[in-house]
Amino acid sequence: MLIIGLTGGIGSGKSAVARCFSELGIPVIDADSVAREVVEPGLPALKEIEKRFGTQILATDGRLDRKQLRKIIFSDPQAKADLEAILHPMIRTRMWELANRQTTPYVILEIPLLVETGQNTSVDRVLVVDVPQQLQIERVCARDGMSPQEAATVIAAQISRQRRLDAADDIIENTGTFSELQTQVEHLHRKYLELASHNPA
Ligand code: ATP
Repeated sequence: MLIIGLTGGIGSGKSAVARCFSELGIPVIDADSVAREVVEPGLPALKEIEKRFGTQILATDGRLDRKQLRKIIFSDPQAKADLEAILHPMIRTRMWELANRQTTPYVILEIPLLVETGQNTSVDRVLVVDVPQQLQIERVCARDGMSPQEAATVIAAQISRQRRLDAADDIIENTGTFSELQTQVEHLHRKYLELASHNPA
């Protein structure tokens, strides 16, 4: 099965692209959803996080108190690194487990930090959703109610647009309408089906 890694900066349109692939019957495995799933009570990740950070990161119902955890790692780079060392391998394993269960010719792994975490080398193709920064800022502000300065700060903390594009095998330019986005996805869908039909795996 062909594995496509879908990535892009904040507000570039990853979810919109993922929806288009889903509508074509292609499974999309989303890193953010898997990240929430692996910290469910009773699963190993939550126990590991509790061991490292103490019961202060548990809410009264025994679930992970994300707000509290965010507060801790915000000002402590070592804590952030420790948390990522616990979570990232578990998220990765679970995503591949889910991917391997699919029976379609290809699957999409939606991973915002695909290039940052080096996972671009583990997938068969890297699909980058790209937008010019000004449009990215406008869309993020409209969606999340951020100020343009706040949006620019988040963008500046991410990997650069150029480095992401350098890792791309395929690029979707999300500067047009949703319907134009859909047309680009349909084009890639045909390409991926064709590639998958030649994929020995
Ligand atoms: P994040 O990185 O925050 O998860 P994302 O990359 O998944 O974001 P989306 O949520 O898909 O991005 O898109 C960001 C915003 O831009 C949303 O409000 C979405 O509806 C809007 N948007 C995406 N594509 C288009 C488009 N082609 N035309 C108009 N609006 C768009």
